[in-house]
Amino acid sequence: MRILLTNDDGIHAPGFALLEEIAAQFSEDITVCCPAEEQSGAGHSLTLHMPVRLQQHGPRRFAVTGTPTDAVNLALRTLFPDGPPDLVISGINAGENLADDITYSGTISAAMEGALANIPAIALSQVVRDGGNGFGAARGWAAKVLAPLLEVTMARRTLVNVNFPPVPADEVKGIRVVRQGFHDYSRGAVVESIDPRGRKYYWFGLEDIEQTLDRGTDLEAINEGFISVTPLQLDLTHYPSIDTLAERFAR
Ligand code: MN
Repeated sequence: MRILLTNDDGIHAPGFALLEEIAAQFSEDITVCCPAEEQSGAGHSLTLHMPVRLQQHGPRRFAVTGTPTDAVNLALRTLFPDGPPDLVISGINAGENLADDITYSGTISAAMEGALANIPAIALSQVVRDGGNGFGAARGWAAKVLAPLLEVTMARRTLVNVNFPPVPADEVKGIRVVRQGFHDYSRGAVVESIDPRGRKYYWFGLEDIEQTLDRGTDLEAINEGFISVTPLQLDLTHYPSIDTLAERFAR
């Protein structure tokens, strides 16, 4: 199996070193292509207004001076002349990618870029609470989550979002397949202050995000100490609204 590994925290991130260790248990044919610098929150952005450069860090080991989407896109176009890889894995992100985080996430967007190219893709994130807890749950459980995922045939234009709870590996309760939950970002913190030149600035924070712990969601699973596994699809259409809107425009 040929695997492309990527992330959004940058090629030097500790979570990526862990992903490389884990992926090595599944394949010897691994290609690395990450953003050169941290790109958390980059979403699915593609750099169009400036060139990007491919930096080689070793045999089949590269960084791209751009976003996670740039890294996967460029890797698929330039690093696989003999055909695409069999799998894209993105992570292991330092921080959660739960509920609506998905829409901002560079980690998930990198996996989406694989799914867009019809390659099975998995995003891995370690939930961090209160400033730290390390990657213990991910270290102890990632291989146990990946092995079954690699046995199933993923539907086209889908990807899988995995989050590890913020507890040591021996306190993880198990694995749950769940749907995407809901975060209320309207109350998320924005820090307002004055820069050294006397101008006002704002800095987006991550505190005080309301969590709606509905049954069967990724948020609930993590809150209860389980690993969440959520299949996602690239098709964002809200099908129930098609008829409603079509009726309105038919008047
Ligand atoms: Mn990140």
